[in-house]
This record gives sequence, C-alpha cells and structure tokens, in this order.
Amino acid sequence: MENCVFCNIASKKISSSVVYEDKNVLAFLDIMPANKGHCLIIPKNHCENITEMDSKDMSAMMEASKKVAKAVSLACGSSSFNLVMNNGKDSGQIVMHAHMHVIPRFEKDRLRIKWSHKRYELNEMSEFAEKIKKFV
Ligand code: AMP
Ligand code: ZN
Repeated sequence: MENCVFCNIASKKISSSVVYEDKNVLAFLDIMPANKGHCLIIPKNHCENITEMDSKDMSAMMEASKKVAKAVSLACGSSSFNLVMNNGKDSGQIVMHAHMHVIPRFEKDRLRIKWSHKRYELNEMSEFAEKIKKFV
C-alpha cells in the first residue's frame, strides 16, 4: 500500500515519534494530538479497519494499547485515558489503515468524546438484539 501514510510510517519511509514497536505493531505519537501524549497503535500489515484484522494483529494491537496506555499514564501524570478506534468514514476515520488511539485525559480538558443518549421505543431493544445476534 504505497499511498497509505501509516504503511509508510510502519516501513519507516515516513518518520514518526515511535514509543513502542514489536514484530506486529508500531506505536507513535499522533501528529495532531487531542491531548499531548496522544498515541496511535497500528498493525504493521495493512488493513482498513477492525473487521479486516486477523486475530494475531488484533491481539498484538490490544496488548500494545494496554502497554502504551500504562506508559502514557505514567508519563503524563494522569491515570485516565480513552482508547478509541474509528472504523469507517461515518465514525470519523480519516486514515484508512486500522489504528487505536490512546488519549490521555485530564480534569477539565474539555475533550468531546462522550456522546448524547438516544431512547429505544417499546420492544425496539429486543428487536435490535435479535437482529444483531443473527450476524454474530
Ligand atoms: P482517524 O480520524 O481515527 O483516522 O485518526 C487519524 C489520526 O492520524 C489523526 O488524529 C491524525 O492526527 C493522525 N495522523 C495523520 N497523519 C499522521 C502522521 N504522519 N503522523 C502521526 N499522526 C498522523
Ligand atoms: Zn496501510
């Protein structure tokens, strides 16, 4: 994927501020952080989103996310953080190479990651559960 910015970061054709690397994943600072210390964890193999990732890359990304989140917490002096993964354009994904955000959080940092809540109509909740269960 020669035009993919994260493939180019994984192969070191584009430089990044690496904080962790192993055989399967690379973690580096987000260039436009939500808060300073915001990191991204990517599988080195190109895949567009979570649904395309195999279990090896999936577990490597999750293990690295935990490791990096602990390190970010210690380095940034806050035990709060968000793990966020945007999947698909409508979710806000801009770079179409799967990645996990690790965002350190601080009291009154005023980041808007929380959503407003909708209500189900009568019976709608069980209908949604049934619909989803069919595809799991
Ligand atoms: P998303 O909206 O989930 O696709 O997030 C993509 C993230 O990648 C954004 O937060 C960007 O700031 C970040 N990003 C894009 N290009 C680079 C780069 N060259 N180095 C580091 N972070 C990048
Ligand atoms: Zn890629």
